[in-house]
Amino acid sequence: MYNRYGRRDNKYKARIKILVKELTPEVFAQKVEEEWSHLKDGPATLIEEEVQRIEGRFTRPVYARLPPKDTFLEAMLTAEKAFANWHRRNVHPHKVPGYAAVTLSLKRTGSAPGDVSAEQMDAIASLAERYSFGELRVSHEQNLIFADVCAPDLHALWREIRPLGLSTPNIGLLTNIIACPGGDFCSLANAKSIPVAQAIQRRFDDLDYLHDIGELDLNISGCVNSCGHHHIGHIGVLGGDKKGEEFYQISIGGAQGVHASLGTVIGPAFAQDQVPDIVEKLVQVYLEEREGEEERFIDTVRRIGIEPFKDYVYGTNHQTRRRNSGHLAAA
Ligand code: SF4
Repeated sequence: MYNRYGRRDNKYKARIKILVKELTPEVFAQKVEEEWSHLKDGPATLIEEEVQRIEGRFTRPVYARLPPKDTFLEAMLTAEKAFANWHRRNVHPHKVPGYAAVTLSLKRTGSAPGDVSAEQMDAIASLAERYSFGELRVSHEQNLIFADVCAPDLHALWREIRPLGLSTPNIGLLTNIIACPGGDFCSLANAKSIPVAQAIQRRFDDLDYLHDIGELDLNISGCVNSCGHHHIGHIGVLGGDKKGEEFYQISIGGAQGVHASLGTVIGPAFAQDQVPDIVEKLVQVYLEEREGEEERFIDTVRRIGIEPFKDYVYGTNHQTRRRNSGHLAAA
């Protein structure tokens, strides 16, 4: 439908969301259904034989037969807290016993999210050869993944990626920020994204605090084209421009995945240097309101709504909020 009706005459309007808005979601859905009724069960239908034919073109890694638990790995997890932290956040289960998928974090404090140097890439390519069947994947969250690492190698791999700055144990946490290139590199930008991400990373650089906050997606886009997916961040930051000045609109409650939702803008926008303070205030409300450590930021927003966050950020609720540990105090 986008191919047929999309706005090819105007590059700023060449977006499917613009078309959906112009047609209305109902009319767009109706047109998709009409088209589908012609295609359904036609020659393009995917059948099992075709899946098998395509699968036959791919070779799978030659996995070793490994026990589901590795005694050396278990010992290292007990002996080294930093390794255990990294394993908890950056190592993911694998369908083959004895293997794991590993995320190399490109979100070290002070780095541009997703940025990697030529020297790092050379080193990563060589590590992929040794640890993951020569294969490397890129995630939409702007990290790199070794998809097939055997458990006995995990500790050695961790030791090798540490000096390369690729072992920050922050996958799924607040500093694993998705940020578009923004005003530093993109000619369509209204505002910068990277310095905002770096300022938030610096504010939340304490790993204990970060792990205490738990799972939280924060996404930043430098304009409404939304390449940083701000609208599906648990916290979303959207850069704008008003009379030559950059400002940032904050939304909360967005999510990707099975229970996807769009974030709601909490109110008037902020100057760039205010954004870390606002994020900190949102986190403070969450830490005070959450029902147990298992309740994630997004769950709390869904349970209590955006009003308590809004009240605190815009000062209608002057109560001082403090984390139990007293790590940060509200202004
Ligand atoms: S969202 Fe970011 S990368 Fe995308 S067009 Fe806007 S400024 Fe450029």
